[in-house]
Amino acid sequence: MIDLHSHSTASDGSLTPAELVALARDSGLAVLGLTDHDTVDGIAAAQAAAAQHGLRLVPGLEFSAEYEPGTMHLLAYGIDPVAPALTQKLASLRGDRGSRSARIVARLCELGMPLTIEEVQAAAGGGSIGRPHVARAMIARGYVASTDEAFAQWLNQGRPGFVPQERIAPAEAIALTLQAGGVPVLAHPYQLKPTSSEHLEQIVRGLCDVGLQGIEVHYSRHRPEQMAEYAGLAQKYGLLVTGGSDFHGASKPDIRLGTGTGSLSVPEAALVLLLERIAENQAKAVAVR
Ligand code: AMP
Ligand code: FE
Ligand code: FE
Ligand code: ZN
Repeated sequence: MIDLHSHSTASDGSLTPAELVALARDSGLAVLGLTDHDTVDGIAAAQAAAAQHGLRLVPGLEFSAEYEPGTMHLLAYGIDPVAPALTQKLASLRGDRGSRSARIVARLCELGMPLTIEEVQAAAGGGSIGRPHVARAMIARGYVASTDEAFAQWLNQGRPGFVPQERIAPAEAIALTLQAGGVPVLAHPYQLKPTSSEHLEQIVRGLCDVGLQGIEVHYSRHRPEQMAEYAGLAQKYGLLVTGGSDFHGASKPDIRLGTGTGSLSVPEAALVLLLERIAENQAKAVAVR
């Protein structure tokens, strides 16, 4: 079994990188991609655990990129986690995540839900901080019963506790990924909420023009007809196909490693092509340096 999309405590997952890799092994995975939000901090620990358990770890990350109105996530696979331009940008995004969460806390206080940034930081445990950690702190205070309720009532865009985050331009995320020897992939396209297939195709074409190399087709929350549509775009634009569960542990309890909500299955052929492309991109990145 192969799963190329997962989160650890380095961002908003509930398992440490080592625990995640151990669970992957116990779940029967041969290959795991670690793709924490805007950070590579979990990769070293995950690599070490993977070596110990005889599992292949594909290092990655998941950028939150600019996209109006909504969210665009871009995956970066096989990146060198110490590439200077990449780590500098990640440090800046991380600084903004910190100040943004402080502004969310201030907003919630105004809304009659006293909270401290320390409680949110404790929920993040030193990892890349985000709204899921605010949600956990709100649950601990008894303001909401669940993460879903925290997002739906307070934290989602359009709700009173929403504060925008500094986001990277898609072209910059793709360029940094390539420079770091990685493969840039559009994550879960359904989340773009395109108004039509033409709209989605236009977005994908724009990303291809700036170097996109893959599209996440196999995904827990993609319906079969969506997977078929995205696979069609992959074929038309010469993109690699990837897939994964987007496992987060306790904060997305319906999603399991490897199988997602039950029917996820990432084909081995997709992995083989991705690994080949990673090797090519790494060789090019080294040649440029
Ligand atoms: P942020 O990175 O701070 O913008 O928060 C976005 C992240 O929150 C997403 O990547 C998801 O992992 C998580 N998220 C969004 N909505 C929910 C939800 N309803 N329940 C749990 N996690 C969520
Ligand atoms: Fe997340
Ligand atoms: Fe995502
Ligand atoms: Zn994800």
